[in-house]
Amino acid sequence: MAGGERIAREHRKAKGMATGARETLVIIGSGPAAWTAALYAARANLNPLVYEGEPSREMIPGGQLMWTTEVENFPGFPEGISGQELVMRMREQALRFGARAVMENIVAVDFGRRPFLLKASGGAEVEAQAVIVATGARANWLGLPNEERLARAGGGVSACAVCDGALPAFRNKRLAVVGGGDSAAEEAMYLTKYASEVVLIHRRDRLRASPIMAQRVLTNPKIRVEWNTVVVDVHGEDFITGLRLRNVITGEERDLEVGGLFVAIGHTPNTAFLEGQIELTPSGYIVTKHPWRCATSVDGVFAAGDVMDDYYRQAITAAGTGCMAALEAERWLAHQGVGEVPVLETAEVPTGIDVDPMGGD
Ligand code: NAP
Repeated sequence: MAGGERIAREHRKAKGMATGARETLVIIGSGPAAWTAALYAARANLNPLVYEGEPSREMIPGGQLMWTTEVENFPGFPEGISGQELVMRMREQALRFGARAVMENIVAVDFGRRPFLLKASGGAEVEAQAVIVATGARANWLGLPNEERLARAGGGVSACAVCDGALPAFRNKRLAVVGGGDSAAEEAMYLTKYASEVVLIHRRDRLRASPIMAQRVLTNPKIRVEWNTVVVDVHGEDFITGLRLRNVITGEERDLEVGGLFVAIGHTPNTAFLEGQIELTPSGYIVTKHPWRCATSVDGVFAAGDVMDDYYRQAITAAGTGCMAALEAERWLAHQGVGEVPVLETAEVPTGIDVDPMGGD
């Protein structure tokens, strides 16, 4: 059976089971954090239901790994593995142990009642005794009117080189990437496969990217960096034709002809649906109650992955916190009389103890 057909069948089955049901554990998300949590929870006989999200222009189930080319730093894959394959393998592994997956978003929650109430994009309401939120973070845009218009219209503006860079429209053209972090470096390098030239536009005079990524960019003969430069407008009616650039030191403006724009300027956590229901940081990340724990301000709701981590933001740390969240949920549920008392039974972190997660003073 083709992969897509199989996923659709699994989805229909899980959706049928979920509608109007009272679930023990619902996991929201579909990146390494969500699938690791699902794997651990399924193996603990918690029969987790995973809301893996609905594909859209800006969001594809699977999280940010789906937008990554080669993952070289996930242990166990000495030759590297594609981001998509890594996520699909994690998904398969969780489903193999009985996790169920629904391809819908959770659009609203009521954490003020027990069991918790979750509303899915398909209209169903699901009750859950415990919830793990692992919804990750999404790409940021520059906020220019033409950028948004062309991005929506498929007019050569994208936040994902891996998704769109190989399209015929971008072949042998000068392509621009905006940003100075690892994402921008990765996108610029990826695009050199297809572009005649890649121009990396960065607002400062040094890259934020890790030294190894920065070195790869700076030594790649197909990549040119425009330092201290911002994009102030995007030209083109149906398809991008160029950019208006401004040098932030001199204020000088000029046009640059490009056949594609890839925006790689960071991410925002996917927590809008949690507004007012759980404690968030000023930038929207979920606050965890104790360092090195996944419990949130709501008893019975746990957070894992990039949605609660604006510091490490790695696939391996997301997977690690997914494991932690599942073990905490299992233990918490056992204390509510659900399931067996888990093997992991440690003392609670006493309240009032201020432990610095980074080990600083
Ligand atoms: P990031 O590290 O936050 O970098 C965002 C970049 O965009 C920064 O250079 C920033 O400039 C720039 N920027 C932000 N807002 C802007 C605006 N409005 N206009 C112009 N430029 C703007 O984000 P990221 O690159 O997406 O990386 C996020 C995390 O994922 C990092 O921890 C990174 O190491 C990790 N990551 C790892 C890999 C890998 O290992 N293969 C790949 C991708 C991402 P400033 O520098 O001036 O702030």
